[in-house]
Amino acid sequence: MAKSVLVVGGGPAGLAAARTLGKLGIPTILVEKEQKLGGRPVIEDYHTLIPRKMTPQQVIGPFIEEVQNNPNIDVKLGVELEACEGEAPNFKVKLSNGEEHEVAAIVVATGFQHFDAKRKGELGYGIYPDVITNLELEQMFSREGKLYRPSNGQLPKRVAFVFCVGSRDRQLGVTNVHCCRYGCALSGLQGTEIREHYPEVDVFCYYMDVRTYGTWEYPFYWAPQEKHGVRYVRGRIAEITYNPQDGRLRVKHEDTIVQRPAEVPMDLVVLVLGMEPSEGTKKVAKILGLAQDPDSQFLVPAEDAGSNIISNKPGVFIAGACKGPIDIESSLSEGEAAGAEAATFIGAKVSA
Ligand SMILES: Cc1cc2nc3c(=O)[nH]c(=O)nc-3n(C[C@H](O)[C@H](O)[C@H](O)COP(=O)(O)OP(=O)(O)OC[C@H]3O[C@@H](n4cnc5c(N)ncnc54)[C@H](O)[C@@H]3O)c2cc1C
Ligand code: SF4
Repeated sequence: MAKSVLVVGGGPAGLAAARTLGKLGIPTILVEKEQKLGGRPVIEDYHTLIPRKMTPQQVIGPFIEEVQNNPNIDVKLGVELEACEGEAPNFKVKLSNGEEHEVAAIVVATGFQHFDAKRKGELGYGIYPDVITNLELEQMFSREGKLYRPSNGQLPKRVAFVFCVGSRDRQLGVTNVHCCRYGCALSGLQGTEIREHYPEVDVFCYYMDVRTYGTWEYPFYWAPQEKHGVRYVRGRIAEITYNPQDGRLRVKHEDTIVQRPAEVPMDLVVLVLGMEPSEGTKKVAKILGLAQDPDSQFLVPAEDAGSNIISNKPGVFIAGACKGPIDIESSLSEGEAAGAEAATFIGAKVSA
C-alpha cells in the first residue's frame, strides 16, 4: 500500500501542504476541526487581505478548490487528531470520528487564535459597545458592508486604531512579547478603506512604533497618511473610558513625541489583536510530543534542522501560524515546503 501523510489543519498552511502532497500523487488525509476549509481568514470572514487587497476567497479559494478536487486528498471536516502511537514512518493515528489510520508522516498546521481583548480591561472591550476588535471591523465590512457605531448604528465621526493589543506587552508577562506582524499593515489598509468610503470620518492610529515589513511600508504606512489623511499618533494608551454626557469614548494616552498626556474623544475604537497559539496547536503538541517555546507556547523547529518547518519529532513537519505570527503568503509557502519535505521524507520520487 502507498505510504500516506496526515495534514492537521485546513487553513492556508495545511491547504498548501495537502495540495503539494496531492499533486505529487501521495495519498493525503487532511483533517480540519471546523466544518469549512480556509482557516481563520475564511472561517471568520476577513474582508480585504494585505498585501494584495484581495478577498480570502480570491487568495485561499483556489487552494480549497484544488484540494477538494484532487482524488489523492481525503478531506475530513469536523475532525481532529485525538491520539498518535508509534514512530515515523509507522505512525498509528486516531481521529475524533473514531477512524484509525497508518501514516508515514504528519504535517501540523493548526494555526493561531486571537488574543482575548477582555484581558486588557483598561481598554474597555466587552464593557463599551463602541470598543471593537480589528477582527470585528473586518466582519462589519464583509458581513454588513458598512461602518457604524454598535451603540447607536450611526457613522462614527472619529475612529481610533490601538496597535499591539496582546502583543509586545510585558505587562502580560513573557507570553505576549512577540510582534503580531500583520497589525500595523492591516490597520493602514483598514484606515484607508474608511477614508476612501467615508472621507468625513477622521482616523487615528495609536502606535508604539510602526512595523510594516519590506514592501508593505509604502502602501500600508506612507500612503494611508500622504494619500488618505490617516493620522498617526505615537503613544501608549493608558485607558479608554466613556463619557455619558456626550456618549463618546475617551482615549487617554501619553503622546510620547511631545511627551504630554492627552485625552481625545472618539466614537469607535478598534483594538488590533495579537496572535496566540490555538488550542488545537497546544493539543496536537501534546499528542505528538512537539517542542514548544516555553514563553509563547508556539511550536518551535528542531534546533539542528536548518529549516524552520522540521520539528523535533522525526517525520513531523510544522507550518504556518502554529509556529508564531505570520502572514498568509508566508503560511502558504511554508505549507508547500512542509508538503514537499514530508514527501521527501517518505521517499516519494519527485519528478519535474
Ligand atoms: C484580524 C486578522 C487579520 C489578518 N489579516 C491578514 C491579511 O490581511 N493578510 C495576511 O497575509 N495575513 C493576515 N492575518 C494573518 C493570517 O490570518 C494568518 O497568516 C493565517 O491565517 C495563518 O494560516 P494557518 O493555516 O497557519 O493558520 P489558521 O488560519 O489559524 O488555520 C489553522 C486551521 O487549523 C484548524 N485546526 C486547529 N486545530 C486543529 C486540530 N487539532 N485538528 C484539526 N484542525 C485544527 C483550525 O480550525 C484552522 O482552520 C490576519 C490575522 C488576524 C488576526
Ligand atoms: S505588527 Fe504592529 S500592531 Fe502588530 S504587534 Fe507589531 S508593531 Fe504592534
